[in-house]
Amino acid sequence: MAKKAIVIGAGFSGLSAATHLADMGWDVTLLEKHNQTGGRARIMEKDGFRFDMGPSWYWMPDVFETYFGWFGKKVSDYYELVRLDPSYSVFLEGNERVDLPADYQEFRKLCESLEPGVGPKLDEFLKQAAYKYKVGINEFVYKPSLSLTEFADPRLLLEVFRLDLLKSMSAHVRKFFKDERLIKIMEFPVLFLGGTAKTIPALYSLMNYADIKLGTWYPMGGMHKIAEGMTAVAVEKGVKIQLNTPVRQLEVKGGKIMAVVTDNGTFTADVIINSGDYHHCETALLPAAFRSYSDDYWNSRVMAPSSLLYYLGINKRLKNLLHHNLFFDEDFNRHAAEIYDTPRWPERPLFYASAPSLTDPSIAPEGCENMFLLIPIAPGMPDTPEIREKYYHIVMERLEQRTGQEIRPHVIVKETFAYQDFVSEYHSFKGNAYGLANTLTQTAILKPSLRSKKVSNLFHTGQLTVPGPGVPPSLISGRVVAQVVERTVR
Ligand SMILES: Cc1cc2nc3c(=O)[nH]c(=O)nc-3n(C[C@H](O)[C@H](O)[C@H](O)COP(=O)(O)OP(=O)(O)OC[C@H]3O[C@@H](n4cnc5c(N)ncnc54)[C@H](O)[C@@H]3O)c2cc1C
Repeated sequence: MAKKAIVIGAGFSGLSAATHLADMGWDVTLLEKHNQTGGRARIMEKDGFRFDMGPSWYWMPDVFETYFGWFGKKVSDYYELVRLDPSYSVFLEGNERVDLPADYQEFRKLCESLEPGVGPKLDEFLKQAAYKYKVGINEFVYKPSLSLTEFADPRLLLEVFRLDLLKSMSAHVRKFFKDERLIKIMEFPVLFLGGTAKTIPALYSLMNYADIKLGTWYPMGGMHKIAEGMTAVAVEKGVKIQLNTPVRQLEVKGGKIMAVVTDNGTFTADVIINSGDYHHCETALLPAAFRSYSDDYWNSRVMAPSSLLYYLGINKRLKNLLHHNLFFDEDFNRHAAEIYDTPRWPERPLFYASAPSLTDPSIAPEGCENMFLLIPIAPGMPDTPEIREKYYHIVMERLEQRTGQEIRPHVIVKETFAYQDFVSEYHSFKGNAYGLANTLTQTAILKPSLRSKKVSNLFHTGQLTVPGPGVPPSLISGRVVAQVVERTVR
């Protein structure tokens, strides 16, 4: 008889863990509280607009290809991928704007125009980043990080130093670049890791390789297409997906989960894998005696920011924007301090605006634009409708002014999502949008463990455990936990 596993949550990590286990011969049931799979990458449809609710940047296409490849499939079996060119636009202070070409030689020319003579340094920076990507993505991120001995291989220890694991991204970038605009561009990718360049280890310049060399892509139909493809593979492998099934309690006896209590009945299995918020699982689903980590532990963690999001349907086409637009036209350090050092609502926020309908007309009615705005906010900051409205006008004012067009009178759909929604929709600790920051002291073995310390048949996957936040890491996290389960429980 096949061993039984229950996976809680059908985001990318849960889908990945469930599909891997099913592929290994396990009898897998996936329990999801929402009415669709995808987790943070759910979609919202309104008046002919189809909004991706969470991730919008498709980086590291090789990780997705590898994922589908594990099951004998290809990305193109599920969605059409297009490379964006320019990759994205950065609005800088003083009315300056740079559009980053996808072609490396063109990108290099742009960098030379910002900092004459920087070309060879850029080449070297990216050569090192390519090496980090190769070792980081092929070796480090697939380690379950359950014990230091996994890293005891002398070759790997040497790599830790070669990879600049211990230095900060900020110091690393400044070794190569002097121009503040270039520094902003090179430091931008670490924002995906939930921290700032001062706290994220230089290992993650691998993200610059992902950005500049591997490119920015888009799955036609939207980011949710990834979840649709993964769901199709899961079902094909025999995973039983139960939507609208919030898990309310994990009953423990003799150090083992004996029952998973949901709104749709009670389930039993040999192994439980939680892919929802780790803190929620520990504090709301498990009895207190079986938590692996204390309140003090959680409160001392550096969480990725929360976000204030706007989903806008606009009844005209927009000009002077690209698919991805970063508004880095205010003081970055000040906004970062308002997130990490003295959490408060930002005075003059940086923000991100996406208009995916510029690439993909299928997600908006004819003649209309589908737009998404994101303002990073300190985790744990309750909001009100008035605050949401205030920030809407702050960023729209800048957006209209910088792109030279009226937008607000043309907004026919306007939905918001913020701290309270992250908590109520995903049970997200402090309303974090994408998990735990990948700071040096929260990397690998120093992250919340993917294996419970107190409950023998409970495991975790997803953005609060290894390897970290983001869509590609979540796919990898699901594979890593499935392999640990298969190795230790079977
Ligand atoms: C606004 C935003 C923008 C982002 N942008 C990007 C981007 O551009 N590129 C990128 O790579 N990453 C991005 N990310 C990060 C990325 O989306 C996440 O890291 C990733 O999707 C996390 O996947 P996960 O499986 O760990 O968690 P989740 O997606 O949160 O999945 C967990 C699932 O568990 C379910 N669940 C929770 N508790 C229970 C329960 N008790 N019972 C049943 N089900 C439960 C939830 O409903 C959810 O479906 C973004 C995230 C956000 C929020």
